[in-house]
Amino acid sequence: MEKFSGLDFYNIDQHLSDEERMVQDLCRSWVEARVLPIIEGHARNGTFPMELVKEIGEMGLLGANLEGYGCAGMSNIAYGLICQELERGDSGIRSFVSVQGSLAMFPIWKFGTEDQKNKYLPKLAAGEFIGCFGLTEPDHGSNPGGMLTRAVDDGDSYVLNGAKMWITNGAIADGELGDIFLVYARMEGAGRNELSMFIVEKGFEGISLGQKITDKLGMRASTTAEVVFEDCRVPAENLVGEEGSALMHMMRNLEVERVGLAAMSLGIARRSVEIMNEYAKERKSFGEPLNRFGQIQRHIAESYGEYMAGRFYTYGFAGRMSLEKPGQRLDSDGVKLYCSTMGKNVADRAIQVLGGYGYCGEYRVERLWRDAKLLEIGGGTVEAHHKNMTRELARVDKLL
Ligand SMILES: Cc1cc2nc3c(=O)[nH]c(=O)nc-3n(C[C@H](O)[C@H](O)[C@H](O)COP(=O)(O)OP(=O)(O)OC[C@H]3O[C@@H](n4cnc5c(N)ncnc54)[C@H](O)[C@@H]3O)c2cc1C
Repeated sequence: MEKFSGLDFYNIDQHLSDEERMVQDLCRSWVEARVLPIIEGHARNGTFPMELVKEIGEMGLLGANLEGYGCAGMSNIAYGLICQELERGDSGIRSFVSVQGSLAMFPIWKFGTEDQKNKYLPKLAAGEFIGCFGLTEPDHGSNPGGMLTRAVDDGDSYVLNGAKMWITNGAIADGELGDIFLVYARMEGAGRNELSMFIVEKGFEGISLGQKITDKLGMRASTTAEVVFEDCRVPAENLVGEEGSALMHMMRNLEVERVGLAAMSLGIARRSVEIMNEYAKERKSFGEPLNRFGQIQRHIAESYGEYMAGRFYTYGFAGRMSLEKPGQRLDSDGVKLYCSTMGKNVADRAIQVLGGYGYCGEYRVERLWRDAKLLEIGGGTVEAHHKNMTRELARVDKLL
């Protein structure tokens, strides 16, 4: 009976490499020691914990699954574990790490020139630069193909005009931009209508901060901003990949990002199960611990089962996903679709199990619920995943 009784029997941790186990332990203890003591204040005030950025870089957590150029060269599973453990501490910290690694660093690493890699990646990996990713616009989110930001080829530079919305890490403090922006724009000119990607530095002429977005439901220790480009001059050498080839970058970028986002939902679910399980053992109603009541048992048991299902799907996929090849959309969308809604539902049940205490800040489950909701929207909405997955499935004859 013993071996059927708990996490160990099913524990995918048994299959982790020494390095994966080490980075999981490192993140877990770092979150306890460094994040939890200060993060409530940042989340309450809507400020970014800049004081932790260098430490995150020193631990090798930025672009952790990329090789060379100052990056740690860990596995995709290690990257997932990093996201899960950081999310368990705080969504804002995790969001900084995943945007920097999979949305700002990955496209440079995968599609950039040697000069771009040498110039930007070591500083992004060390946390000396804050990286951002600009795809969404004020009027175009789920339909990036409609984007209005334009790039004009002007010889030794490109000129960008437009605006990007909801940019994570876009404003580090009031009025202060992040350092490096990976920006998508539509090429303008005779017969040219393709997307290109550019590295824009905060010091370039014509880039400015639009509105800093405040009063978000959750993820309050992560900053979100609008970034505006007005005749913004970008040196020609800052084009990433071929001109007009960025549609492919976008799809690869989002594939990598979605695995990290699924792992974040796992972090939320795990913390929620731990909290409701502990609470239901201690709290009494009608003279009995809550965990003796069938309806409460259902909340706890279903949550655990769903968390474990998400864990196997996500890490199973992360283990076989390749950063080198495209076409992994079905399951990169699939893990995020399943885990984002699962994480939100599990956090919701945790609030229910804690009753009135769950509705208030002390036990943290209300914050987990607020953070979980974003994952049904950011990095692709659940509706976008439905669409992508159904399109991919239409090409498949037989499932595994
Ligand atoms: C906190 C936060 C951080 C973010 N960080 C970044 C970032 O760093 N960089 C970045 O580029 N973006 C970022 N985003 C943007 C995010 O990716 C978009 O919000 C998301 O893609 C949805 O776009 P939208 O908000 O414009 O919604 P819309 O596209 O307007 O969609 C609204 C609703 O309609 C649904 N919908 C739209 N089209 C269809 C359709 N054809 N069929 C069915 N339903 C449809 C959507 O699923 C959604 O439910 C962030 C967003 C948030 C909230």
